[in-house]
Formats: sequence, C-alpha cells, structure tokens
Amino acid sequence: MSELAAEVRKRARHRCEYCLLPQALFRRPFHIEHIIAKQHGGATDLDNLALACWQCNLKKGPNLSGIDPQTGLLVRLFHPRQDQWAEHLELQQSATALERIEIVGLTPVGRATVRLLDMNEELRQAIRFELSR
Ligand SMILES: [Zn+2]
Repeated sequence: MSELAAEVRKRARHRCEYCLLPQALFRRPFHIEHIIAKQHGGATDLDNLALACWQCNLKKGPNLSGIDPQTGLLVRLFHPRQDQWAEHLELQQSATALERIEIVGLTPVGRATVRLLDMNEELRQAIRFELSR
C-alpha cells in the first residue's frame, strides 16, 4: 500500500480532504482513509481512498451517512472523490467568536458531514484562523 498511500497524499496536496487542515502542522502522519469502509465492501484503490486527519477519520469511522441538522433527514456523507468541496462546504468567520473560522455546510451532505466529523471543534477553528492571517 505504500506507493498507493504516497499517491493519495500527493493527490490531496497533503491536506485533510474533509476539513482541509494541512499535514505540515502535525508530526503524526494523517490517515489513508477508505471513503466507503472496507467493512461495507469498499476497495483499497485510488477511487476509494482519501487523506484524512485523525480527527476526521476517527469521527467518520465506517459511517456512510449522517443526519442533516437542519432537516433531520438521513443523508450520505461528503465523498472526496465524487463531490466538490466548495459545492458542499464553506469556510466562514465564526458568528459567535472572534479569531475562529468555521466550516459551514451548504447542502444536506455538507451539514451532515460537518456535524458527524465534528469539524468545528474549538481547536480546529482556532488553527484555521491562524492559517488565514
Ligand atoms: Zn480533517
């Protein structure tokens, strides 16, 4: 898997493909994640692999879907190979705190993914703010 892993890291430009945090800020390597978990029959190939920071990967686990907090409906999660990030997600200055940048879901898929992956955990918002300066 090491050549495949290197290809995934390079393709992702060494950023988490969910929350966009850069690998360069962290010592521990980000995970090569199965978008469709192996337990659901997901393949170990470029079409089903993504680079994910530990937090996104751990929160996502084998989940394929989540609840859109706005509608309460069950929807699929963001798929880094098939979806465009900017179509579903957006960086925004936090409405409630200075020096924080949130990831906001623009669609049911985006909102469910932000919530399940806990993308707006405090520290990650602060890191995003520092990177934006
Ligand atoms: Zn992440």
